[in-house]
Amino acid sequence: MTSQSPRRPRRMKFWGWGFEGESATPDEKKLVLAMAKHRFGIEDAAETPAPREDEFTLTKPRVAPPASLAPLCSSAPLDRLAHTYGKSFPDIARMFARDAAPAPDLVAYPTSEQDVVDILDWASSARIAVVPYGGGSSVVGGVEPLVGGGFAGTLSLDLGLLGRVLEVDPVSRAARIQAGTLGPALEAQLAPHGLTLRHFPQSFQYSSLGGWIATRSGGHFATLGTHIDDFVETARLVTPKGVMEARRLPGSGAGPDPNRLAIGSEGALGVITEAWMRLQAKPTFRAGTSIRFSDFDKAARAVRAIVQAGLWPANLRLLDRNEARNTLAGDGSADVVVLAFESADHDQGAKMRRALECAGDFGGQWDERQLAAGAGGHREGASGAWRNAFLRAPFFREITTPLGLIFDTFETSITWERFAEFHAKIKAATEAAMARATGNEGSVTCRFTHVYPDGPAPYFTFMVRGDRRRLVEQWREIKIVASDALAAAGGTITHHHAVGRDHMPWYRKERPDLFGRVLEAAKATLDPAGIMNPGVVVG
Ligand SMILES: Cc1cc2nc3c(=O)[nH]c(=O)nc-3n(C[C@H](O)[C@H](O)[C@H](O)COP(=O)(O)OP(=O)(O)OC[C@H]3O[C@@H](n4cnc5c(N)ncnc54)[C@H](O)[C@@H]3O)c2cc1C
Repeated sequence: MTSQSPRRPRRMKFWGWGFEGESATPDEKKLVLAMAKHRFGIEDAAETPAPREDEFTLTKPRVAPPASLAPLCSSAPLDRLAHTYGKSFPDIARMFARDAAPAPDLVAYPTSEQDVVDILDWASSARIAVVPYGGGSSVVGGVEPLVGGGFAGTLSLDLGLLGRVLEVDPVSRAARIQAGTLGPALEAQLAPHGLTLRHFPQSFQYSSLGGWIATRSGGHFATLGTHIDDFVETARLVTPKGVMEARRLPGSGAGPDPNRLAIGSEGALGVITEAWMRLQAKPTFRAGTSIRFSDFDKAARAVRAIVQAGLWPANLRLLDRNEARNTLAGDGSADVVVLAFESADHDQGAKMRRALECAGDFGGQWDERQLAAGAGGHREGASGAWRNAFLRAPFFREITTPLGLIFDTFETSITWERFAEFHAKIKAATEAAMARATGNEGSVTCRFTHVYPDGPAPYFTFMVRGDRRRLVEQWREIKIVASDALAAAGGTITHHHAVGRDHMPWYRKERPDLFGRVLEAAKATLDPAGIMNPGVVVG
């Protein structure tokens, strides 16, 4: 075993968002500090230095790999720290508190599928819990090796060295891609073929194909291909009991779909090593604009009219007025709908015009000049500002967390006929929970990330000043109330962030009991020693 691991060429910061050396810019920092002072009265913006490796004391690794696997494994403190948490608010808060208690004993970096098979064989026989790790961008405790008792040790299985597009089929427009490929590398390898997967979660830069499939991630586009599920032709799952892979087909009615067992399994049934993915031609025709509304409910009805008209815009995001203000897409005086169409084949003008008619029916107003910007319209005005904020906001947590701000998001979905009441209940419950947990008034904003003909996927952001010594405890109190409110009002505990460890109590109640037992039976067959990501998805 090495203390110098065969790790990725570029490493993410172990305590926050981005690669080592990447941070918020000085201007962004100034903006966030001004917001903290103006909105939350935080004057004492003294610098809390970023965590350093030598400030953490890790327990001694409890297990060592056999000689045959030693070159793939590392117990170096930096490797273990980098695989302790994902990138949620409590993850970053614990790093700033210099707490890395759940660090894995070992990190393994397989370079081939056979390496994965060998590692699972050894881990099964030695009773070592294995936590698959793609980009490590989980925000639900999915990669945290908190596995309970009964294991000799924990191993984080980092797929980062399996990062290649192996085959492209330009006729059917599909590619065989290794699971550890991060978003930018995946698109860069497809670009010479004029093709794209066109799946852009906000975490695109630092998340992997295998992670997207394992968590059923949601991309940037608001309608049609929303989840990664739609793009999986077939996924290859290496389990402790063997390999499971269905044949490549555009569709099949032959019984329950084996791919559906791998998609969303979050590492609990095996390791996705590669997948054949459906591709598209790169869009060249674009139309985009933003629409202002004086009433949130009317804006929601306009969005419903557009999606039910079968226009399928690439973007159809309703931002409530405070969300619009926070993301610089508005000044806080109006709710804003960001609207965009894309195609590789035909002009989008007619669709845009019809969508604007729908918006106009509910009092929507837009800027004709922004429309005239044509192909570039989606990068200008409110749409452009929103896009920039969307890409840069994940860096802000490294500024807000040491200031003592609890800043987190949660997402769900609900059918249209329940939406208005649902939205009001969730907002009120979260506001009350923030006040109870911290004694301070916080803010809750809402946007739609995805919309369907039968309902939206609302995404809530909450922010409140907490007590720097009790941030995770206070966050948990708020999270429990908000999650209970989602469940009681009939929403799902997650539309695309996944289950992980954080959402298990609500997921257990949400899924039919018999289905939970079917999952347990599947796990007992595929993972008889119960070593695969224990505590996630399956009880
Ligand atoms: C700032 C930010 C923005 C985000 N935006 C979005 C968004 O727009 N849409 C969205 O859906 N999510 C989003 N997320 C959540 C996260 O990025 C997704 O869940 C993503 O799909 C995780 O991919 P990953 O490669 O980072 O997986 P990881 O975080 O490494 O792992 C996630 C889960 O999948 C399992 N896993 C990973 N790889 C494999 C594999 N090869 N085989 C089996 N199991 C595996 C892990 O064990 C874990 O349970 C965001 C997160 C952050 C921090």
